Amino acid sequence: MSKYSDELTYNFTKGIAPPVRETRIGVCSAYCGTCGDLNEDVKSGCAQVQSRKFAQSGGCQLGLAVGIASSITNVVTIIHSPLGCCSGFGGQAGMRKTQRETRGKRNEDFVWLHTNMDQLDVVNGGIDKLREAILYAEKEYNPEAIVIANGCVPGIIGDDIDSLVNELNGRLSAKLVPVHCEGFKSRYVASGYDAAYHGFLRSLLEPIKQYDRVFPDEGQDALERYKNSRTVNIFNVGSNSPGDENELSRLVSALGLFPKVVPLHNSLDDLARLGDAALNVSICATHDDYLLGHLKELFGTPYIIDTLPIGIKNTNRWLWKVAEFFGLEDEAARVIKLENDQLLEALEPLKKELKGKKIFVGGGETRILTTAEFFSSTLGMELVGVKAHNVDRFVEEILEDVTGPELVIEVAAGQPAEELNIINKLKPDLYCGHMGANGWVARLGVPNLPLFGMGLNFMGYSGAYELARKAVKVLKNTNFVKNISANVNLPLRKEWFDTDVKDNIKENDLV
Ligand code: SF4
Repeated sequence: MSKYSDELTYNFTKGIAPPVRETRIGVCSAYCGTCGDLNEDVKSGCAQVQSRKFAQSGGCQLGLAVGIASSITNVVTIIHSPLGCCSGFGGQAGMRKTQRETRGKRNEDFVWLHTNMDQLDVVNGGIDKLREAILYAEKEYNPEAIVIANGCVPGIIGDDIDSLVNELNGRLSAKLVPVHCEGFKSRYVASGYDAAYHGFLRSLLEPIKQYDRVFPDEGQDALERYKNSRTVNIFNVGSNSPGDENELSRLVSALGLFPKVVPLHNSLDDLARLGDAALNVSICATHDDYLLGHLKELFGTPYIIDTLPIGIKNTNRWLWKVAEFFGLEDEAARVIKLENDQLLEALEPLKKELKGKKIFVGGGETRILTTAEFFSSTLGMELVGVKAHNVDRFVEEILEDVTGPELVIEVAAGQPAEELNIINKLKPDLYCGHMGANGWVARLGVPNLPLFGMGLNFMGYSGAYELARKAVKVLKNTNFVKNISANVNLPLRKEWFDTDVKDNIKENDLV
């Protein structure tokens, strides 16, 4: 079903870790130039071997892997590493509660423990500390699963966490889920999604065993079969809001299908039923191609990995692909026409405010390109540049489709100094970007809005309206960023802004 299915094979092995994305799909993590040049360089393989002379810190795959794995109901996460690897988790305490409550799920704390490895453990090994942490987690919290996220230090010294899991398996009520997300293994942070899902595939996804009913009920059986044959698993991502999930579920329901939003914030029982659905549909290839490919292999469930449903054009396309699978093109045509007519009428006054304004979009590759397409094609804004965390084969087609060949593109995970340099030269009226970047951009005096957010809706038709409405609102009064810019300095020298970011990109030393 996927347009990528011919290119990628997903030979799932119960091996301890997935291949990193550098080897699995090829990825560019450093680039500055035009979209046209990048397209050529990705095809020739040159873009994938670029690096940078001066680099600020980027993300680590451990953070993403923990974010995915710890979202499951009644799970405890143990981070096996020195304490520093956990520095980002302190601020996430409330996020899990909010994420769950806003989806009507049981309220739960984000419970994470760490093994606090020190110098002595580097010499003697940290397995004893990990064993102690696992036994503590079982006794204290009685979770259904204990996720063990392995950091760089135990990875480098060779702590054999899988042997420990084998030793304890069967002695505990919790399922043990080793996740090999050592940061040093990949420059591509999104490898963390594969690491987490590999852990799920190895240790959690056991299909529920079906027994014959004690009292046969053919009617009920037929009903269940019918429901399963019309069920669509919509694979959510960490940056989804409940509003996004509601909107996509609404659209799938409008086709007469049964949507299920999985796997984040689901229970182990829900995960065990993943194979019941007739179709798995992705909303972001960066997150879940590894999982969907392997679910097809394990359960035979077809899947669609196509576009991210942001803006009118890409929402139409996403919905059409789902309908096409079930032969529901007529229904899709009706839903799309109704939604498009209403939305375009509602957008008219907003378009007048935004037309001709310059915009720059930064963040995850698929999300920025679909968001940029909406701002430029539908709202009539002038797209002056984009910044992608990474670029891989999943956006080749969108890259050609959405952007002009002369459009400025920077590829960098993190690296705010480079992004600020480019934004300072392009001088957009509005910046739409990944969380974390907006604070820096505000210091340049550029009005900005988030690319995603938990309390907001970005996807589907209602998300498109919200996005346009937010952009108008931000541009109505720009005094806030003007004041920030006038009173808060950027920690960058003037000389840096005079340099060309292209000069900071070089060929990888390891090539
Ligand atoms: S890169 Fe390694 S040491 Fe740094 S936070 Fe990630 S796992 Fe920990």
